[in-house]
Amino acid sequence: MDFADNRQAIEERQRDRLNALLQALLPANPFYRTKFSASGLFEMGSLDELKRLPFTIKSDLVEDQLHHPPFGTDLTFPRERYIRIHQTSGTTGKPLYWLDTDESWDWWAKCWKVIFEAAGVRPGDRIYFAFSFGPFIGFWAGWEGARKLGAMAVSGGGQSTAQRLRGILDYGATVLVSTPTYALHMESEARKAGIDLARESAVKITIHAGEPGASIPSTKKLIEESWGAKCYDHAGATEVGAFAFECQSRGVHVNEEEFIAEILFPGTDAAVLEGEQGELVITNLGRIGSPLIRYRTGDLVRPSYQPCPCGRPFMLLDGGVLGRVDDMVVVRGVNVFPSAVENVLREFGEIEEFRVEISTREAMREIRLILEPAANQSQVEDLIERVSQSMRQRIGLRPTVETVSPGTLPRFELKAKRFFRL
Ligand SMILES: [Zn+2]
Repeated sequence: MDFADNRQAIEERQRDRLNALLQALLPANPFYRTKFSASGLFEMGSLDELKRLPFTIKSDLVEDQLHHPPFGTDLTFPRERYIRIHQTSGTTGKPLYWLDTDESWDWWAKCWKVIFEAAGVRPGDRIYFAFSFGPFIGFWAGWEGARKLGAMAVSGGGQSTAQRLRGILDYGATVLVSTPTYALHMESEARKAGIDLARESAVKITIHAGEPGASIPSTKKLIEESWGAKCYDHAGATEVGAFAFECQSRGVHVNEEEFIAEILFPGTDAAVLEGEQGELVITNLGRIGSPLIRYRTGDLVRPSYQPCPCGRPFMLLDGGVLGRVDDMVVVRGVNVFPSAVENVLREFGEIEEFRVEISTREAMREIRLILEPAANQSQVEDLIERVSQSMRQRIGLRPTVETVSPGTLPRFELKAKRFFRL
């Protein structure tokens, strides 16, 4: 089959699974029964008809859980069928609680198996999870995915960074799973302890979750050089699942066996063309107990349907998840995404940590960069000058740049927060 035939086959499978999902949902799931009652749509002849269904937005879910505490009504089965509960980080308000049945938890594991396999992880690999296992779903699902693949999973929960580094070396871990920020933090701690991870650890693959960093070119390069490994991104969310993975040809693909992706102009129902930026709207096909249909993720992506050298016919997200739709700020007429600023700053190896503040003064937006250089940097003035120049040339911004002494800025294990609107 050629690429076009493959695309058609994917869409037919998506349509059939969506029809099966609707059949299971409509009699039993109060949330979607109410939401879809006006559409009169029970079976789709083609995937195009998906457009006739209303969107699901995050505030629908928040309100539903508020009115029907604690779990809301997006539940297809009786409560006893559910075996796992997780929650969102709740950075923008009350966290959402999400339940999974045995089947849907198995589906999560299957999606993570795809992430691992695409990065070249094999049975027999030893996967170290440098993460304090809390109520957030991503790493738990990765843990299950490791089991499904037949790889060994090693928990870094309840450990200090020094203990984790020891564990990685002692267990001979071959794969690291962490946030991109934490991978860099571990390397910097290792360096201080005289450990050269690129030489001394067996880690050859790193897989990242929780933040966009692993698709930001200079952050990716920094992780790869410091660990002597290939760095892979993946994307997902508690509510919808792990919907994208990175292949060994460095393409970030939507897992279209398990998800339908629509890329729409933010705030509209019009699809963007290939190469344009739009909001990712996701339908998951295998989480029947608590599904999401046409969910507006708020993630900004750029779709591509070019064939990938890896041979997978799945849609590519050029540059991964580019940011959040509402993260973009306009500073003096320039559209600025946090990921673009991070991309520039990570090219300066002497910057250990940073913070970006965006403020408004007399209706003008100002951007201020606070840099924390590594301990042995003496040429601070020179660094400020080079960063300013790079920001001007690459993004068209003239920020205020200042430095603070080593150890001043906070370090992050999960969901780094470096961008502040004042
Ligand atoms: Zn590929």
